Amino acid sequence: MKSNFSYQKIFDIKYKNIKFEKVFTFKGEISKLKNKKFIFLDESTLEKFSELAFYNISHFLRPTHLNKLKNILNDSQASNNDKYVALTLLKNANTSSGGILPMCQDTGTPIILAKKGINIITSGKDPYYLSKGIFNCYLKNNLRYSQVAAKNMYTEKNTKNNLPAQVDIYSEGSNEYKFLFIAKGGGSANKTFLYQATPSVLKTKKIIEYLKPKIASIGTSACPPYHLAIVIGGLSAEMNLKTLKLATCHYLDNIPQKGNYKGLAFRDIIMEKQILKMTQDLKIGAQFGGKYFCHDVRVIRLPRHGASLPISVGVSCGADRQILGKINTKGMFLEKLEKNPAKYLPPIKYSNLPKNEIKIDLNKPIKDTLIELNNLKVKTRLLLSGTLIVARDIAHAKLKERLDKGQKLPSYFKEFPIYYAGPAKTPAGYNTGSFGPTTAGRMDSYVEQFQKAGGSLIMLAKGNRSLIVKNSCKKYSGFYLGSIGGPGAELAKKNIKSVKCVEFPELGMEAIWKIEVINFPAFIIIDNKGNDFYENLIN
Ligand code: SF4
Repeated sequence: MKSNFSYQKIFDIKYKNIKFEKVFTFKGEISKLKNKKFIFLDESTLEKFSELAFYNISHFLRPTHLNKLKNILNDSQASNNDKYVALTLLKNANTSSGGILPMCQDTGTPIILAKKGINIITSGKDPYYLSKGIFNCYLKNNLRYSQVAAKNMYTEKNTKNNLPAQVDIYSEGSNEYKFLFIAKGGGSANKTFLYQATPSVLKTKKIIEYLKPKIASIGTSACPPYHLAIVIGGLSAEMNLKTLKLATCHYLDNIPQKGNYKGLAFRDIIMEKQILKMTQDLKIGAQFGGKYFCHDVRVIRLPRHGASLPISVGVSCGADRQILGKINTKGMFLEKLEKNPAKYLPPIKYSNLPKNEIKIDLNKPIKDTLIELNNLKVKTRLLLSGTLIVARDIAHAKLKERLDKGQKLPSYFKEFPIYYAGPAKTPAGYNTGSFGPTTAGRMDSYVEQFQKAGGSLIMLAKGNRSLIVKNSCKKYSGFYLGSIGGPGAELAKKNIKSVKCVEFPELGMEAIWKIEVINFPAFIIIDNKGNDFYENLIN
């Protein structure tokens, strides 16, 4: 059969309903050559543009995201825990919009995707200036340096400025330079999964069944409610995953909702609704049981090789940090984020929620706290006051080295509960920088050895844990408490009263800290009797 050549772009992306604000005037020159307009952009202006973009996404959210949180509070089917998390995240957005404490302590990996019109001319130092803007932003503000660089396979160091950034610049269009700036947290980046499925999965019911355990296995460590995205197909694994990243950022919301036989990418709205319902039926909820595991779902269908079916699943987390930008001769524009999130806070107060929190005094000997927890059920909401020891990945590795050499755990590690976290910079005049929990699962492999040595008997962090932690808690009479993932600014402002470095100051945010907390919210997730709140929901 004869086939005629005709070209079609796979992605027909429309930028609809996006409100921009002018942030800087255009700097450069316009020249005409052979009746064509060429825009010579002063590329050094990219520095302040990128600096402002990353500042904005560290402190402000999209109105659409805030509205979704507000809707949870108004939904009679949402659980009390869903509402508790949503209210906390809205309060966190409010605190962070003050411009001092970033919305989350993990201020992310900076990623820039740009599309440069062919008539925009620079000398090619665009990645340099965009990176310089990121450098300025992370150095000047109370953000965290999370990037580590390797000298060889096993020797790594924090780069102490949050660089390098991922900067991808493509050529598209003519007279405009378009940008998507993303600050992707480690917890949420780690919940990106690619599966090489067989094409037999492409049967209506089968595909939902196929996806269900994969979606449940994302768990809660990336701070739900999520913006969930699923990409089915793709001409390569890389194309699939890049599409996923864009879909989680709602960048592809306006692509067509129907495909064609030339390979047009499209959104499957019907499947999006089916999957959203399925996530509600999982009952994982917004971290501690309920309906709101996800705010929304995007399903993107792409063309594929007949023998391949890449499928990816990924999320944008509670810190839904992305912003669009554009530069043209009229100026430099950034997407308008919400500077006044207080208006999304309805007249609901914590005091309106059922009062079933149990106050726990952590300054008692830990054996007394363990007896108190022993009398409570999983999912009980707690308010912790007193001392916590903060330690995360590298500190755990260093303490393990001591145990492996036959030495003991330090006494502070046995006397107090351990909070897995790493703070952002402390603003002047504040007790601490943003200081929410990190993903507990990364510390799972240490738990049994540490509990055997008398430490980690009460752990506090976010997300679900593996069977080894449940078994170890049963064996050594330990507990794992879940803290709400996401509200790092709110916890810093309201619940953390002092922070002192105890060991390894050279590790920066990975050091061991002693902190004093007041009414720090937590839930019992794993108890000393072999109960795990998440077990049946996620596994
Ligand atoms: S909200 Fe949670 S997953 Fe997202 S960046 Fe912060 S800690 Fe990581």
